[in-house]
Amino acid sequence: MRKMKLIFLLPVLAFMACSEDPITDQVETEKQPQTANFTDEITEIAFPEEYGKVSEVYYTGMKLPVENVNGKFIYQGDIIIPNDKASKSPVKLVYEKGETPQEKSVGRTSHYWTDNTVYYEIDGSLPNKDRVYDAISHWEANTNLEFVKRSGQSNYIYFTPGSGCSSYVGMVGGKQNITLADACSTGNTIHEIGHAVGLWHEQSRVDRDNHITIHWNNIKSGREYNFQTYQEGGYDGDEFTTNLDFGSIMMYSPYAFSSNGQPTITKKDGSTYSVQRSALSSGDIEGANSMYPSSSGTTEQSYINGEYYTINGVTVLRYYDLWWYRTTYGWKKVELIDGTWYWA
Ligand SMILES: [Zn+2]
Repeated sequence: MRKMKLIFLLPVLAFMACSEDPITDQVETEKQPQTANFTDEITEIAFPEEYGKVSEVYYTGMKLPVENVNGKFIYQGDIIIPNDKASKSPVKLVYEKGETPQEKSVGRTSHYWTDNTVYYEIDGSLPNKDRVYDAISHWEANTNLEFVKRSGQSNYIYFTPGSGCSSYVGMVGGKQNITLADACSTGNTIHEIGHAVGLWHEQSRVDRDNHITIHWNNIKSGREYNFQTYQEGGYDGDEFTTNLDFGSIMMYSPYAFSSNGQPTITKKDGSTYSVQRSALSSGDIEGANSMYPSSSGTTEQSYINGEYYTINGVTVLRYYDLWWYRTTYGWKKVELIDGTWYWA
């Protein structure tokens, strides 16, 4: 990709004879190289035709490699990281008592929607609005979530046309776009809503190397960072389900970001697997419902000693009926006060 990039840049360089380091600083996006003409029809991507400069930002308690395309930080193809909540340096997740929490302090999923209710609006110019209505009906029929047309609420999803399919993860605050190009299907829309309610990608689970092999040689040059695990990003908690779910609608296709039509992801035995973009899997539903438990039950959630939980964005361990957070120096006791974690 580097070589192609230079060829592509030659006419630009001629005009920029005296400028400094135009490759890294001045050119943020460019057309995809001609050799990489293999297209994976399944895996969602925000800007299919463009590449950006890759850098690392801190977000949701993790250090994530992101691609800067059109001024947006893109993570793993279709996840948009909000610029105002990303940081070049680590952010705090747990505070001293009396300290005022920073706006940027969030956990792996920044915020869940409150009262199991997601507000939304649809851009009048979005073609085929039925894919949105169908995807919403599917989410409502299978989970505890309810989607309500916005009537003045400040936090909401805005379904709008874009060059690809993309979404933010969790409720990021304010108006948050889900972009849908014409090619994005109802299934892709279910996937993007999955991000917006707090789901990440299945193939980047912390335990994914027990289940799949990543074939780095087949990945398009410049797209390798999309295959980082959440553990590499600094997240060490448990996942919602016990095994990698090949049936998850949040799972990449075996050919995601392939440069040559050969698989980039296989099972451990080298075989490929089928992915689907038609429905939430039972694992997806389990994950969504553990983020958004049914409100009908009056019983308070009971926590199991020895289990990890992600609560208000921070992954904590329940042990001896207390909460523990892992720091570089070991486990420290924490407590949740009015939605913010403090050292106990
Ligand atoms: Zn995605």
